[in-house]
Amino acid sequence: MSRASKASLVLVPTPIGNLDDITLRAQKVLAEADAVIAEDTRVTGRLLQHLGIERPLISFHVNNEHRMVEQLVARMQRGERFAMASDAGTPAISDPGFLLVREAIKAGVDVECLPGPTAFVPALVASGLPCERFVFEGFLPQKKGRRTRLEALRDEERTMLFYESPHRLLRALKEFAEVFGNERSGSISRELSKLHEETIRGSLQELLAHFTAHEPRGEFVVVIAGASA
Ligand code: SAM
Repeated sequence: MSRASKASLVLVPTPIGNLDDITLRAQKVLAEADAVIAEDTRVTGRLLQHLGIERPLISFHVNNEHRMVEQLVARMQRGERFAMASDAGTPAISDPGFLLVREAIKAGVDVECLPGPTAFVPALVASGLPCERFVFEGFLPQKKGRRTRLEALRDEERTMLFYESPHRLLRALKEFAEVFGNERSGSISRELSKLHEETIRGSLQELLAHFTAHEPRGEFVVVIAGASA
């Protein structure tokens, strides 16, 4: 029977809240890998257990990726085939993975990323804001460079996407309103694919008022309309 992927390194998107979102192909790739590289072996271990898959796990996260990358690439060059998963969503999207992908490609290792769950695509599409062109900003820097990054986006005409943690959401919304103006349209999707999923749409001022009245809880994607041309 043919394998689900011919590549030596396969990035495997995993559910962002709803376990049913794992794809059939993701399951096949995980089951066929010599080992699964995981951002957190406990999180990925639980997923594999849920899927009835038993594979060796290799820990790979922001604190050891520089140390690990060389030996992992060498193992793939010697013929081992790895799947890689982050805690949720697509690896390398605001998660570890980029370094391994870059170094594997440099070393001539065949790399593939499966299509699958990621938070920003459903948030963008559900926002109702233009989605034919958009910019993904991920997490804003927490301190140094935050304001400069925002100022650089002041005249951005494409729809903008940000990841934000619940305890920084209000601060971020105030800053967005200062830079883009109270009347700029936005949309906030929280708890995508989970029981309490909701998308709130409105001006930045309205979104700020909503989350001032309702304490932000859960995971959030903020979508902001671009400046009109
Ligand atoms: N790799 C992931 C992806 O492909 O989207 C992103 C990982 S990043 C560490 C986590 C951030 O993604 C959260 O702080 C939140 O902004 C966003 N996120 C992840 N899951 C989400 C969900 N179910 N609903 C809304 N936002 C989510």
